[in-house]
Amino acid sequence: MRAAPSQEEVRRQNLGALLRYLHRHGAMSRAELTAKLGLNRSTIGALTADLAAASLVTEEAGRPAAAAGRSGRAGRPSLVVTPRSDAAYAYAASVEADRVRAARVGLGGVLLDRREAPRDAVAGEPASVAAGFVAELHGAAPRDVRCIGAGVAGVDTGVARAALTSVLPEGIPVVAGTVSDLAAVAEHARGAAAGCDNVIYLYGATGVTAGIIMDGRRFSGAGGAAGAVGHMVVNPGGHACACGARGCWETEVGEQALLRAAGRSGAGREAVRAVVDAADRGDARARDAVRQVGGWLGLGVANLVNIFNPDLVIFGEALRDIYLVAAASVRSRLNSIALGPNLSRLRLRTPALGDDAPMIGAAELAFEALLADPLDGRT
Ligand SMILES: [Zn+2]
Repeated sequence: MRAAPSQEEVRRQNLGALLRYLHRHGAMSRAELTAKLGLNRSTIGALTADLAAASLVTEEAGRPAAAAGRSGRAGRPSLVVTPRSDAAYAYAASVEADRVRAARVGLGGVLLDRREAPRDAVAGEPASVAAGFVAELHGAAPRDVRCIGAGVAGVDTGVARAALTSVLPEGIPVVAGTVSDLAAVAEHARGAAAGCDNVIYLYGATGVTAGIIMDGRRFSGAGGAAGAVGHMVVNPGGHACACGARGCWETEVGEQALLRAAGRSGAGREAVRAVVDAADRGDARARDAVRQVGGWLGLGVANLVNIFNPDLVIFGEALRDIYLVAAASVRSRLNSIALGPNLSRLRLRTPALGDDAPMIGAAELAFEALLADPLDGRT
């Protein structure tokens, strides 16, 4: 039997919960924190004092604008606790099919500085370009502020992590995750999936991958390779897939599937948008193509919904553009296949954080160590 947690362990857990809440939700009065975290006033007071002493938050009299009028009580205003984006930061980068992005992100999720470029406009290996951006950001960062780590989203997480590690000083931990996993993490932490604990983020570009959050935690599989939903076989007599199989989902819903159905050539997000725009304008062939891809999209989502029973499915990148014009086809096929109990709570959404989601998720991953133990053995 496990021993009950010591007072010190409870204090550390509470410090983590408090800092995590402020990091995700921003400045908040002590009174609100007391209500949201279910701790008593004196405990919140002691915890915020600890975080203030560690320079992770500031406390001052007054109410944040968002809280004004919410309590409905007159009298002495509660102290407002604000996470200090100027006191601790992480580097974040994402290496994606069409772009390379990097940023310095302060506590509270504040973008302090950023670099980005279209992938075809930069020479060199994309992970090295991202590392170059991080080196530039590091060169411009203030020296008296605590860097808590770096996170990177990439298709090949090992290569991406090695590239960032090579340009940062020893002692700065670098963590990595797949693009779709970290997009899901970002939307769960501070986007469309905030408050939902069972989420599937579909990242659609050349291929389709899924970031999966189950019971509030990132689900990556035994070797970190879960979420290859684009290779779920949906049409065994269909097109050959790059993986060697036939009829994988991404051969019916990926960028090339849409372009093929619309009778167009080209590749990439702009080519997808051109078809979607044509469908919007009433072009018959583009409309048929979007409807056809929407049907296949609904079929695959139905399988995922039956297996995982998520509260929320988010359509990211090119799938966002397709979903926005094909929502009716997606829903109709989904509703005809998925089981009733799995559909009853399901919502379909587009990302709230836009195309920055994987990079923001990389920052969240880097902040994880600080949020798990804000004082990190310092007291
Ligand atoms: Zn495949």
